[in-house]
Parts: sequence; structure tokens; C-alpha cells
Amino acid sequence: MTELAFHNSATRRREIFVPIDAQHVRLYVCGPTVYDLAHLGNARPVVVFDVLTRLLRRRFPRVTYVRNITDVDDKINARSRESGEPIGAITARTTADFHRDMEALGCLPPDEEPRATDNIAPMVEMIEKLIANGNAYAAEGHVLFSVPSYADYGKLSGRTPDEMLAGARVDVAPYKRDPGDFVLWKPSDDGMPGWDSPWGRGRPGWHIECSAMSWRYLGAEFDIHGGGHDLIFPHHENELAQSACAFPGSRFARYWLHNGMLLVDGEKMSKSVGNFLTVRDILGRGAWAGEAFRLLLLKTHYRAAIDYTVERLDEAHTELDDFYAVLARDLPEPDADDALVAEMAEWALEPLHDDLNTALAIARLRDLRTLENVATVGGSDTAVLHRIGKAWEPESGQAAAALRQAAAVLGLLGSDPRTWRQGGQSDEVAAIEAAIAARLAARAAKNWAEADRIRGELSAQGIVLEDTAGATSWRRV
Ligand SMILES: [Zn+2]
Repeated sequence: MTELAFHNSATRRREIFVPIDAQHVRLYVCGPTVYDLAHLGNARPVVVFDVLTRLLRRRFPRVTYVRNITDVDDKINARSRESGEPIGAITARTTADFHRDMEALGCLPPDEEPRATDNIAPMVEMIEKLIANGNAYAAEGHVLFSVPSYADYGKLSGRTPDEMLAGARVDVAPYKRDPGDFVLWKPSDDGMPGWDSPWGRGRPGWHIECSAMSWRYLGAEFDIHGGGHDLIFPHHENELAQSACAFPGSRFARYWLHNGMLLVDGEKMSKSVGNFLTVRDILGRGAWAGEAFRLLLLKTHYRAAIDYTVERLDEAHTELDDFYAVLARDLPEPDADDALVAEMAEWALEPLHDDLNTALAIARLRDLRTLENVATVGGSDTAVLHRIGKAWEPESGQAAAALRQAAAVLGLLGSDPRTWRQGGQSDEVAAIEAAIAARLAARAAKNWAEADRIRGELSAQGIVLEDTAGATSWRRV
């Protein structure tokens, strides 16, 4: 079987993947902080590690994929203060939004999705271990990790102490022994979420949440830790410091995988620049948009930066139309154990084993589509046959079956091809979009009664419309 290799951020090298237990691969990916809709940058690691998990599941008997929900965080507290909405309502609504958006991008749920607020006890336990081991200290209701106590601090991110201080934008506080020391636990006043602890009523810091949840669900040492490149410092550096010091002798994660950033129209996404886009904004473009955005993401290698533009989304949409046009044909169905189908699918997936080269795998899906065209429609495409370099002469239906099988590992081409060609208008979201379109038409015709009736009908289904300049977005209550 093809060797599996990844670029390990910790060693900055390509390494052959050897799991701790060949029967059971364990991975942890940092999940969302639930206070707002997921933006395009949030979606990228979810899609990338969804493909990685699907690939691992093909090769190993058992895979446990853990992705947490950060539902206690000062950003959530601040949002609640601004809006007056209770914290529990914000986190429940945003978690549901996140699940629905990621499902629309074709992502399977993780095996475990622990919430920070359900895991306070292991966090307290880990902090106690860190204090006992001399790596943390309590001061004025806070507990801080002592950075100078861990000699390897900075190795993961490869930063110097000065760079780390600048990068972490550390708060100067009188209770810190060293300016780089970071918070494990902090006191909560009456208006804040808090839990009783040996250091008084308080709440955890963000970094200890992931160390404790990965420990609880995967053990002190596991195979793969993933997340966005922007999390390497300080978040992952701190997770590693906490876990390595709480469990001396353990390496925490063996392989660190980080996805590159996502730009919009060539710039870093920001509300002030006006190029801030949520996944919901993209999904609103049509029933095709979730899969098209997924394809757009996977056409670029996960470690490279992606520039999102509407043109690239439209291009991905057209490519999907071309794939589905082939799959919608009335083709003979090869046997389930057809050897040539299996060989062609394996060939298309081979690049994924080389540090998850989705771009090349997708190029090979296009070659399978061409092979199917040659087999069913006739003619020849010598360039494709030359590129493939195989003496394959598939019969009608074989390359299409291989295409479907291989695409499934990328989480692509899973829709019903005939429904897709009719515009994919079969699901609940499409019905909501249709109602919104009808309401916009009523408003354009100044038929305010009808527009209000449609709004009321959607509202009764728990769908809230939000009109902004030139567009209507929606969310569930
Ligand atoms: Zn994390």
C-alpha cells in the first residue's frame, strides 16, 4: 500500500506517518469558539481535516477524530454583554449554525465533539498536576503557566523569546512572575460564567481547554494535531507546553498539521476592509454553493494560502456541473468488485498519501471524467492517456464508477446527479431560498402584504430574515 506521509510542522519536514497504534489512529483538531457565524477562514480546517479523516478511515481499522467546541471564552462573554443575549443562548445557537454550515460543506461530524463547559473537571485536574510539577503557580485568584519552567517552549513555532512576547500580545500583570507566563485559570466575578476550584470561583483559559479535552478523549499522547496555521502561536505552543509538563515523558501530538490562510480578493479578511464573508453568505448563493466552495478549497494544497474570489467559486461550480453531467448519464453499473474500477480509483487517490495533495487528486478526477467521455461518447484524448501512462481501456461506466468512488474520499460528487442538474433544488435550504426569492419579488412589486405573509410563514418555521443592502440573509432561532 502507498506510504502515507505528512509535512510535520513540529519538525518542518516531510515524515512517513506511523501511528502509535496501527489499529487505532487518534487525531485532535481545534474547533470553533461559538459566538458568531463561521467565516470562510473557519471552514478551511474543517474541510481539510474532514478529507484527512476520510483518508485515514480507508487505511486504518479505527480512527477517533476529536474536535472541540470552545463555549467558554471572553469573546463569548463580550458578545453577550453587547447584545444582551444570554451566554447559553449564544453558544447553543452558534453551535447549531456551525453544525449546519459544516454539513452543507460536506463535512462529516467528528467522533467526539466535547464542549469545554462539560470538561471543567479534567482542566482543573491538569492545572493541579502542573502546579504539583512546578510548572504553574497560583496568584491573586489566577493560575499561570510558568514559561521559564519549560525549556522547550518556543520549539513548535520556532520563535525566539522576543518574538513570542510580541506575538502573544501579552498582558502585563502584577501577578505574573515572567511577562510570557500565560493564564490557565482566572477569577470570575458574579456576572461571569464560573466554576468552583481550589483557586476560587473562576473559568479556564483557552489553551488549557484543548489540552484537557484531548487528554480526556485521546490520552496524553496521540497521533495528529491539526488546526489553522494562525494557531501555532501562541495556542498550540501553549497546548504543547501544558500537556508535555502535565505528563512528563509524553510527546503530546506526534504530527502537527496546519492549514494555510484564506484571503478574500487578495487581502486578509476583515470587517473594516469590507471583505468579511461568512459560510452562510456563500451558501446563500444557491444549493450548489456548499460543494463548490469545498471544491474551491481542495483545489489548493492545504498548506498554501488560498485567495477566495467569486470568480473562483463560479469556476468550481462549472467544474462540478461538468462532473455531474457525466454522472447523470444512464451508464452501465460495473460490479462492486471490478478490478479496473478499483485500480483507477486508487490511482486518483494516490496523491492524497503525499501530504494530502488534494489538488493533484482533483486533477486526476478530471482525467477519469475524460476517460469516461472517451469510453461512452467515443473519440480519443491522447493527452490524457499519455499523462496517465496506463494501458487502461475502460468500458462505458467504469471510469464514472471510479470517479464516484475516489471523489467520495474527498467528500465530493455525493449529490444525486440528476437533481444537481435541475439546480439541486431538493432540500430544505432550497425551499427557504425559494421563499426568500418570492418575498423579494413581492417587495419589488410593492406587494407588501404578500412579502410580510412570507416573512411570517418563515418566522413560524423558526427562520429569521435579515435584510441588508441589496441582499437578504437568514438564520434559525
Ligand atoms: Zn486548541
